[in-house]
Amino acid sequence: MRCPICDAAMPGNWIEYPEYPFCSRRCKTIDLGRWLGEDYRVAAKEAEHENRSTPGESGGDQDDVR
Ligand SMILES: [Zn+2]
Repeated sequence: MRCPICDAAMPGNWIEYPEYPFCSRRCKTIDLGRWLGEDYRVAAKEAEHENRSTPGESGGDQDDVR
């Protein structure tokens, strides 16, 4: 069994680790920060995608040309 954050060996039973599956509270906090950062990035990406595929803008441009 190894900590997914710092890759430290975690001997013994998982029940001995109050912050399982992390070796310590510090690694649990790091993991939480990673999740929050990832969430933020994904949300920004989706907003960008929405802007790009908005049909209203290109349609308005075509109307101006004609
Ligand atoms: Zn760790």
